Amino acid sequence: MDQLSLFPEENIDPRPPITVNWNLWHGCTKASTGCMHCYMYRRDESIGKDPTVVTKTENFDLPVRVLKSGKNKGRYKVPCGSYIDTCFSSDFFHKDADDWRSEAWDMIRERSDCTFFMITKRPERIAEHLPRDWGPAFSHVTIAVTCENQAMADKRLPVYLSLPLLHHSVMIEPMLTAVDLRPYIEKYRKADGSPLIERVSVGGESGNEARICDFAWVEAVQKQCLNNGISFYYHQTGARLLKDGKLYNIPRKLQHAQAHKAGLDIR
Ligand code: SF4
Repeated sequence: MDQLSLFPEENIDPRPPITVNWNLWHGCTKASTGCMHCYMYRRDESIGKDPTVVTKTENFDLPVRVLKSGKNKGRYKVPCGSYIDTCFSSDFFHKDADDWRSEAWDMIRERSDCTFFMITKRPERIAEHLPRDWGPAFSHVTIAVTCENQAMADKRLPVYLSLPLLHHSVMIEPMLTAVDLRPYIEKYRKADGSPLIERVSVGGESGNEARICDFAWVEAVQKQCLNNGISFYYHQTGARLLKDGKLYNIPRKLQHAQAHKAGLDIR
Protein backbone atom coordinates (compact mmCIF):
# COMPACT_ATOMS: atom_id res chain seq x y z
CA MET A 1 0.00 0.00 0.00
CA ASP A 2 1.12 3.50 -0.78
CA GLN A 3 1.97 4.93 2.66
CA LEU A 4 1.11 8.46 1.54
CA SER A 5 -2.45 7.49 0.64
CA LEU A 6 -3.07 5.46 3.83
CA PHE A 7 -5.46 8.10 5.17
CA PRO A 8 -7.66 10.34 3.02
CA GLU A 9 -6.80 14.05 2.75
CA GLU A 10 -10.22 15.07 4.06
CA ASN A 11 -9.32 13.65 7.50
CA ILE A 12 -6.86 16.52 7.99
CA ASP A 13 -8.40 19.37 9.98
CA PRO A 14 -7.39 22.47 7.97
CA ARG A 15 -7.86 24.84 10.92
CA PRO A 16 -4.90 25.73 13.16
CA PRO A 17 -5.01 24.58 16.81
CA ILE A 18 -6.02 27.26 19.31
CA THR A 19 -6.14 27.83 23.07
CA VAL A 20 -9.68 27.51 24.39
CA ASN A 21 -11.13 28.42 27.80
CA TRP A 22 -13.69 25.79 28.76
CA ASN A 23 -15.62 26.90 31.81
CA LEU A 24 -17.77 23.89 32.64
CA TRP A 25 -19.26 25.21 35.85
CA HIS A 26 -19.17 28.48 37.72
CA GLY A 27 -19.06 29.20 41.46
CA CYS A 28 -16.87 27.86 44.22
CA THR A 29 -16.16 27.87 47.96
CA LYS A 30 -12.88 29.00 49.42
CA ALA A 31 -10.45 26.17 50.17
CA SER A 32 -7.50 27.97 51.81
CA THR A 33 -5.80 31.34 52.20
CA GLY A 34 -4.82 31.39 48.52
CA CYS A 35 -8.52 31.90 47.78
CA MET A 36 -8.75 35.03 49.97
CA HIS A 37 -8.87 37.46 47.04
CA CYS A 38 -10.38 35.15 44.42
CA TYR A 39 -11.20 37.26 41.35
CA MET A 40 -14.38 35.26 40.72
CA TYR A 41 -15.69 36.26 44.17
CA ARG A 42 -14.83 39.91 43.52
CA ARG A 43 -16.56 39.90 40.16
CA ASP A 44 -19.71 38.04 41.27
CA GLU A 45 -20.14 40.11 44.42
CA SER A 46 -19.78 43.31 42.38
CA ILE A 47 -22.89 42.33 40.40
CA GLY A 48 -24.86 41.00 43.40
CA LYS A 49 -24.36 37.33 42.53
CA ASP A 50 -23.64 34.62 45.14
CA PRO A 51 -20.21 33.17 44.15
CA THR A 52 -20.69 30.09 46.36
CA VAL A 53 -23.51 28.67 44.22
CA VAL A 54 -22.06 26.23 41.69
CA THR A 55 -23.96 26.05 38.40
CA LYS A 56 -23.33 24.39 35.06
CA THR A 57 -22.48 26.95 32.37
CA GLU A 58 -23.99 27.27 28.92
CA ASN A 59 -20.60 26.18 27.53
CA PHE A 60 -20.68 22.84 29.33
CA ASP A 61 -20.59 20.82 26.08
CA LEU A 62 -18.15 23.13 24.24
CA PRO A 63 -15.49 20.52 23.27
CA VAL A 64 -18.01 18.25 21.51
CA ARG A 65 -20.04 20.85 19.65
CA VAL A 66 -19.92 20.45 15.86
CA LEU A 67 -20.16 22.99 13.07
CA LYS A 68 -23.57 22.92 11.39
CA SER A 69 -22.63 24.69 8.18
CA GLY A 70 -19.71 25.88 6.06
CA LYS A 71 -16.84 23.95 4.53
CA ASN A 72 -15.93 22.40 7.89
CA LYS A 73 -19.50 21.25 8.57
CA GLY A 74 -19.58 18.18 10.81
CA ARG A 75 -16.19 18.90 12.37
CA TYR A 76 -15.84 19.87 16.00
CA LYS A 77 -16.03 23.62 16.64
CA VAL A 78 -12.86 23.34 18.73
CA PRO A 79 -10.17 22.32 16.19
CA CYS A 80 -8.09 19.19 16.50
CA GLY A 81 -4.89 19.80 18.50
CA SER A 82 -6.30 22.64 20.59
CA TYR A 83 -5.11 23.39 24.11
CA ILE A 84 -8.12 23.53 26.43
CA ASP A 85 -7.90 25.30 29.80
CA THR A 86 -10.73 24.28 32.10
CA CYS A 87 -12.64 25.64 35.08
CA PHE A 88 -11.27 29.14 35.58
CA SER A 89 -14.16 30.29 37.80
CA SER A 90 -14.54 27.12 39.84
CA ASP A 91 -12.65 23.94 40.78
CA PHE A 92 -13.05 20.82 38.62
CA PHE A 93 -13.16 18.68 41.77
CA HIS A 94 -15.61 20.83 43.75
CA LYS A 95 -18.18 18.61 45.53
CA ASP A 96 -21.13 20.58 44.13
CA ALA A 97 -20.13 19.50 40.62
CA ASP A 98 -20.10 15.77 41.41
CA ASP A 99 -23.28 15.12 39.39
CA TRP A 100 -21.81 16.59 36.18
CA ARG A 101 -18.21 15.37 36.29
CA SER A 102 -18.68 11.96 34.66
CA GLU A 103 -20.24 13.65 31.62
CA ALA A 104 -17.27 16.01 31.54
CA TRP A 105 -14.87 13.05 31.58
CA ASP A 106 -16.83 11.52 28.66
CA MET A 107 -16.25 14.67 26.60
CA ILE A 108 -12.58 14.80 27.57
CA ARG A 109 -12.15 11.15 26.58
CA GLU A 110 -13.85 11.81 23.24
CA ARG A 111 -11.50 14.75 22.48
CA SER A 112 -8.24 12.86 22.88
CA ASP A 113 -6.98 14.92 19.93
CA CYS A 114 -6.79 17.99 22.22
CA THR A 115 -4.81 18.76 25.40
CA PHE A 116 -6.74 19.50 28.59
CA PHE A 117 -5.39 21.35 31.62
CA MET A 118 -7.11 21.74 34.98
CA ILE A 119 -5.99 23.14 38.33
CA THR A 120 -7.32 22.12 41.73
CA LYS A 121 -6.93 23.05 45.36
CA ARG A 122 -8.75 19.83 46.30
CA PRO A 123 -6.33 16.95 45.57
CA GLU A 124 -7.95 14.87 48.32
CA ARG A 125 -11.03 14.55 46.06
CA ILE A 126 -9.21 13.49 42.89
CA ALA A 127 -8.80 9.73 43.50
CA GLU A 128 -12.52 9.23 44.13
CA HIS A 129 -13.52 11.27 41.10
CA LEU A 130 -11.34 10.01 38.27
CA PRO A 131 -13.14 8.10 35.49
CA ARG A 132 -13.23 4.29 35.85
CA ASP A 133 -10.99 3.84 32.82
CA TRP A 134 -8.41 6.42 33.96
CA GLY A 135 -5.08 5.58 32.34
CA PRO A 136 -3.49 5.95 28.88
CA ALA A 137 -6.82 7.03 27.39
CA PHE A 138 -6.37 10.24 29.39
CA SER A 139 -2.72 10.95 28.66
CA HIS A 140 -3.87 14.24 27.07
CA VAL A 141 -5.02 15.53 30.49
CA THR A 142 -2.92 17.35 33.09
CA ILE A 143 -4.37 17.87 36.55
CA ALA A 144 -2.25 20.45 38.40
CA VAL A 145 -2.37 21.24 42.11
CA THR A 146 -2.04 24.70 43.65
CA CYS A 147 0.05 25.25 46.78
CA GLU A 148 0.22 28.93 47.71
CA ASN A 149 2.49 28.53 50.74
CA GLN A 150 4.63 25.94 52.53
CA ALA A 151 1.73 24.76 54.72
CA MET A 152 -0.41 23.95 51.68
CA ALA A 153 2.54 22.31 49.92
CA ASP A 154 3.06 20.11 52.99
CA LYS A 155 -0.65 19.27 53.12
CA ARG A 156 -1.46 18.81 49.44
CA LEU A 157 1.70 17.46 47.80
CA PRO A 158 1.87 14.10 49.65
CA VAL A 159 -1.73 13.46 48.57
CA TYR A 160 -1.28 14.76 45.04
CA LEU A 161 2.02 13.02 44.33
CA SER A 162 0.60 9.67 45.46
CA LEU A 163 -2.17 9.81 42.83
CA PRO A 164 -1.96 7.70 39.64
CA LEU A 165 -1.73 10.75 37.39
CA LEU A 166 0.09 10.68 34.08
CA HIS A 167 1.49 14.20 34.56
CA HIS A 168 2.23 16.05 37.80
CA SER A 169 2.32 19.82 37.69
CA VAL A 170 2.54 22.21 40.66
CA MET A 171 1.31 25.81 40.71
CA ILE A 172 2.52 28.17 43.42
CA GLU A 173 0.14 31.04 42.83
CA PRO A 174 -0.51 33.36 44.51
CA MET A 175 2.89 32.76 46.09
CA LEU A 176 2.54 33.89 49.73
CA THR A 177 5.65 32.42 51.39
CA ALA A 178 8.87 30.70 50.47
CA VAL A 179 8.14 27.12 49.38
CA ASP A 180 10.67 24.33 49.63
CA LEU A 181 9.75 21.62 47.14
CA ARG A 182 12.96 19.63 47.62
CA PRO A 183 11.55 17.00 50.02
CA TYR A 184 8.81 16.22 47.46
CA ILE A 185 11.15 16.30 44.48
CA GLU A 186 13.47 13.87 46.24
CA LYS A 187 10.83 11.49 47.63
CA TYR A 188 8.45 11.14 44.67
CA ARG A 189 10.22 9.71 41.61
CA LYS A 190 9.28 8.01 38.34
CA ALA A 191 10.49 4.50 37.50
CA ASP A 192 13.43 6.04 35.60
CA GLY A 193 14.50 8.01 38.70
CA SER A 194 13.44 11.44 37.44
CA PRO A 195 11.18 13.63 39.64
CA LEU A 196 7.45 12.96 39.48
CA ILE A 197 6.88 16.73 39.35
CA GLU A 198 7.30 17.65 35.68
CA ARG A 199 6.52 21.35 35.85
CA VAL A 200 6.30 24.15 38.39
CA SER A 201 4.56 27.46 37.72
CA VAL A 202 4.91 30.43 40.05
CA GLY A 203 3.08 33.76 40.24
CA GLY A 204 2.27 36.61 42.59
CA GLU A 205 -1.16 37.89 43.57
CA SER A 206 -3.06 40.47 41.52
CA GLY A 207 -5.65 43.04 42.58
CA ASN A 208 -5.82 46.04 44.91
CA GLU A 209 -5.39 43.94 48.05
CA ALA A 210 -2.59 41.78 46.69
CA ARG A 211 -0.23 40.30 49.23
CA ILE A 212 3.50 40.74 48.71
CA CYS A 213 5.53 38.20 46.76
CA ASP A 214 9.27 38.21 47.43
CA PHE A 215 11.32 37.66 44.28
CA ALA A 216 13.84 35.69 46.35
CA TRP A 217 11.12 33.03 46.95
CA VAL A 218 10.60 32.76 43.18
CA GLU A 219 14.33 32.45 42.51
CA ALA A 220 14.68 29.75 45.17
CA VAL A 221 11.97 27.57 43.61
CA GLN A 222 13.45 28.14 40.17
CA LYS A 223 16.81 26.88 41.49
CA GLN A 224 15.16 23.78 42.96
CA CYS A 225 13.70 23.07 39.52
CA LEU A 226 16.93 23.84 37.67
CA ASN A 227 18.89 21.46 39.89
CA ASN A 228 16.42 18.65 39.25
CA GLY A 229 15.60 18.99 35.55
CA ILE A 230 12.07 20.28 36.17
CA SER A 231 10.39 22.71 33.80
CA PHE A 232 9.73 26.12 35.43
CA TYR A 233 7.49 28.99 34.43
CA TYR A 234 7.34 32.40 36.13
CA HIS A 235 3.78 33.20 35.16
CA GLN A 236 3.34 36.71 36.55
CA THR A 237 4.88 39.01 39.13
CA GLY A 238 1.64 39.90 40.90
CA ALA A 239 0.79 43.46 41.88
CA ARG A 240 3.28 43.85 44.75
CA LEU A 241 6.75 42.46 44.27
CA LEU A 242 9.58 42.77 46.79
CA LYS A 243 12.98 42.67 45.12
CA ASP A 244 16.33 43.48 46.73
CA GLY A 245 14.57 45.24 49.63
CA LYS A 246 12.44 47.46 47.39
CA LEU A 247 8.66 47.05 46.96
CA TYR A 248 7.37 47.46 43.41
CA ASN A 249 3.69 48.12 42.60
CA ILE A 250 3.22 46.60 39.18
CA PRO A 251 0.18 47.45 37.00
CA ARG A 252 -1.89 44.45 35.88
CA LYS A 253 -0.99 44.91 32.21
CA LEU A 254 2.74 44.58 32.97
CA GLN A 255 2.70 41.67 35.41
CA HIS A 256 3.11 38.92 32.80
CA ALA A 257 5.69 40.82 30.75
CA GLN A 258 7.78 41.70 33.80
CA ALA A 259 7.84 38.07 34.92
CA HIS A 260 8.94 36.99 31.46
CA LYS A 261 11.73 39.58 31.49
CA ALA A 262 13.12 38.05 34.69
CA GLY A 263 14.46 35.28 32.44
CA LEU A 264 13.80 32.48 34.92
CA ASP A 265 11.76 30.16 32.69
CA ILE A 266 13.11 26.66 32.07
CA ARG A 267 11.55 24.77 29.17
S1 SF4 B 1 -10.49 27.33 44.41
FE1 SF4 B 1 -10.14 28.92 42.86
S2 SF4 B 1 -12.20 29.49 42.13
FE2 SF4 B 1 -12.44 28.39 44.09
S3 SF4 B 1 -12.51 30.03 45.62
FE3 SF4 B 1 -10.39 29.30 45.48
S4 SF4 B 1 -9.42 30.70 44.00
FE4 SF4 B 1 -11.66 30.92 43.77
